[in-house]
Amino acid sequence: MRDNPWKRAQAQLHSAASHLKLPGALVERLENPDRMLEVSVPVEMDDGRTETFHGYRVQHNNIRGPYKGGIRYHPKVDMDEVKALAFWMTVKNAVVDVPFGGAKGGITVDPKKLSEGELERLTRSFTQEIAPAIGPKLDVPAPDVNTNPKIMQWIREEYSKIAGKDTPAVVTGKPIEHGGSEGRVEATGLGGFYVLAQVLNLSGRKGRGLSVAIQGFGNVGSHLAECLKDAGFRIVAVSDSKGGLYVPKGIKDLKAVAQCKERSGKLAGCYCVGSVCDLSNMETLGGRDISPEEVLTLPADIVAPAALENAITKENASAIEASIVLEMANGPTTREADKILNARHVLVIPDVLANSGGVAVSYFEWHQNMHGDVWKKEEVFAKLKEKMDAASRAVYDASKEYNVPLRDAAYIVALKRLSLQ
Ligand code: NAD
Repeated sequence: MRDNPWKRAQAQLHSAASHLKLPGALVERLENPDRMLEVSVPVEMDDGRTETFHGYRVQHNNIRGPYKGGIRYHPKVDMDEVKALAFWMTVKNAVVDVPFGGAKGGITVDPKKLSEGELERLTRSFTQEIAPAIGPKLDVPAPDVNTNPKIMQWIREEYSKIAGKDTPAVVTGKPIEHGGSEGRVEATGLGGFYVLAQVLNLSGRKGRGLSVAIQGFGNVGSHLAECLKDAGFRIVAVSDSKGGLYVPKGIKDLKAVAQCKERSGKLAGCYCVGSVCDLSNMETLGGRDISPEEVLTLPADIVAPAALENAITKENASAIEASIVLEMANGPTTREADKILNARHVLVIPDVLANSGGVAVSYFEWHQNMHGDVWKKEEVFAKLKEKMDAASRAVYDASKEYNVPLRDAAYIVALKRLSLQ
């Protein structure tokens, strides 16, 4: 049975709150989203039919600032998932200390089955439905699974039409030439790398040479892989929804692998030597094909789930060989799995810290749009590092102070900040 992410979010809230003397009213407020919007999204399809999709926007909490969170296009999107994701945004934004509350949105759709025109009309129709509830000082969407800068720009254009003036700050993750921030595309993966480096440093471990297996090779997984490889980590496995590759000696040319996936539509078989990527190189590289799930239980020092929720469950948690789990996806570990990993002393770096680099740079983008500024990439990355280092230290210190795993510690940091508002 699928672990209900909203129930898990509630349990995480109560577990952390039990360590603090918080006002009852605060906990009660966080137990319920401020506003839940469920909309019908009619779309004219290429064949002339009108199909109606279901869309959601959940505004969990705005104690610390405007609601903020991504929009997901996926066939499994439902209200409980969006509620949990919105709650995790409230926590994440407090952990990384940006002046935003938490929100999330989504449409139940398989975008891979839509043409470009249908995708655009879907996005514009959804924007019309949620327009009264969003705005630069009210609620600022961003990309998530299966959404990207182009989709963010469609939202900005549609919202601006309705608002009667161009409003770039209504959404983040836009293309750079349309007011997006330098560094936003890499931000979540790079932020995860900064967090990992800081946690390794604080716990007296070395990073260079450690092997890493990554589940999910989209925006987050592919950029994380690049950053880690550049820093001397060995990327031994990558996977997408169809499968992946395991190369124990380490995947040398990640860019060629990414291009191969782009061309062929899947990672499996992307064994690259020079510009040639195919199965004929598998033996030379000493690699083999793997399933999307197998990537998590391969021999590796670090495993990074960077795909969807519920990847690590009570069924596979005991088989994880890595001593560190870097949660780049939102909610990749179920409650039962979390307990198993903790009992086995696997260090779990929680999602609300590990993947908060995305929203940190989203905040930078929003800030630049609001003030008419344009920051250089180096400046963005320096500010991102500062944010991620500070958040990592705060969470690590709280884990020592309260003698709790990093996940509880992150929630404790967030709850304390939320209670100060
Ligand atoms: P994406 O759509 O760019 O990529 C998702 C990847 O996961 C794809 O490679 C897909 O093939 C793969 N995938 C899907 N199902 C899988 C499965 N069962 N097994 C293995 N791989 C699978 O999405 P993204 O933006 O990279 O987001 C990935 C995760 O990171 C999500 O949980 C998202 O909420 C979270 N996240 C994203 C951002 C961001 O800035 N994009 C920020 C914070 C958190």
